Amino acid sequence: MEQTEQTTKDQIYIIDDAKWDELIEITHGAAAVCYQCGVCTATCPWGIVKDETVSVRKFMRQAQLGIDNGSEQLWLCTTCAQCDASCPRGVVISDVFRGLRQVAWDHGKPEEGLPSVLWSVFWNQNPWSQAPSQRFAWAKDLDLPSFDPENHEILFYVGCTASFDKRAQKVSRSLVQILNAAGISFGVLGDDEPCCGESVLNVGHKPYFLEIVDETMKVFQERGVTKFLTVSPHCYDVFKNHYPQMDGFEPVHYTQYLAVLIDEGRLKFEKKLKHKVTFQDPCYLARHNNESQAPRKVLGAIPGITLEEMENNASDTLCCGGGGGRMFLETAAGERFSDLRVDDALYTKADILVTACPACISCLEDSVKSKKLKDFAVMDVAELGAQALRAK
Ligand code: SF4
Ligand code: SF4
Repeated sequence: MEQTEQTTKDQIYIIDDAKWDELIEITHGAAAVCYQCGVCTATCPWGIVKDETVSVRKFMRQAQLGIDNGSEQLWLCTTCAQCDASCPRGVVISDVFRGLRQVAWDHGKPEEGLPSVLWSVFWNQNPWSQAPSQRFAWAKDLDLPSFDPENHEILFYVGCTASFDKRAQKVSRSLVQILNAAGISFGVLGDDEPCCGESVLNVGHKPYFLEIVDETMKVFQERGVTKFLTVSPHCYDVFKNHYPQMDGFEPVHYTQYLAVLIDEGRLKFEKKLKHKVTFQDPCYLARHNNESQAPRKVLGAIPGITLEEMENNASDTLCCGGGGGRMFLETAAGERFSDLRVDDALYTKADILVTACPACISCLEDSVKSKKLKDFAVMDVAELGAQALRAK
């Protein structure tokens, strides 16, 4: 194997031809067009919270040269795509990060804490180390029907976080209430529901992710699934943009589905609420999938809700900090993007910070708790909608 050394002022990098080939293959050469302008470094939110700059530009250079320097900073990226949106050369930087992470996995250097996430997906079919038999424990009393393509309009794909996380389960229950109120015939997969593999993909283990894709597609085909709605924008994104064979399948984020029901006159919120709210656009909805209207349409259909926008909204949203596997890793106090976001929300004088993503809810609520805020809540669009279902 041919190796050459490149010496910089304070570091020696080993350029390894094999790794270079590997990276080019994994990223399809995505970093090649980078001309090192540094805009990505300037736009990355880590620059706001960390004393030491996270040089995104330097990672792109390393990807061009096939250098894997084993930096812990590699695992900071939340795959929020803020940098992708501002790169003048159109480099999909979050994809390059996934590629660099895959090389780290291939060479036995994953971040501490992440292998157990993958093992949990392998053994439990969820990244949260929960027993697979408990996947539908949240819905024990709801008597949800098993999905039947002959009789159901749509599959409710709940996803791991909205199934196992106690806080996110409230969102799933709210959504069931709304679907029932709108008279939608829907079913669930119950304990057969597979993990979509999003966390595996975004921590960079593409080979295992592709195995999950095969398993999931088998279940969907066997159960006759075509159109399905997801609670999490992360599940929605991975099905829509990263499953190689989605012909004949139609993933929909639940806000998009509800927005259509409102347009068709099938869903009406009748009870008047009295709240000034602001909305946190989830990165995986607004930026990765260009969807910022559907959640606003649902909020706009709830009587008595006033929406006051934060400065960074829609595709310019600020990440909550929970993507790219960061939900499974510690983020030091003072370095949480969600703290900044809660400050932005408080500035609008809203009493509720609404979002439409279980990861956002978790991060933002942690920040609200750590700031010991009173009379200020974090809620999901579905929870507000469920509250507004019936006039008193
Ligand atoms: S913004 Fe784009 S072109 Fe500029 S350094 Fe970053 S990746 Fe390279
Ligand atoms: S995707 Fe987000 S967190 Fe990752 S490098 Fe880009 S701006 Fe930073």
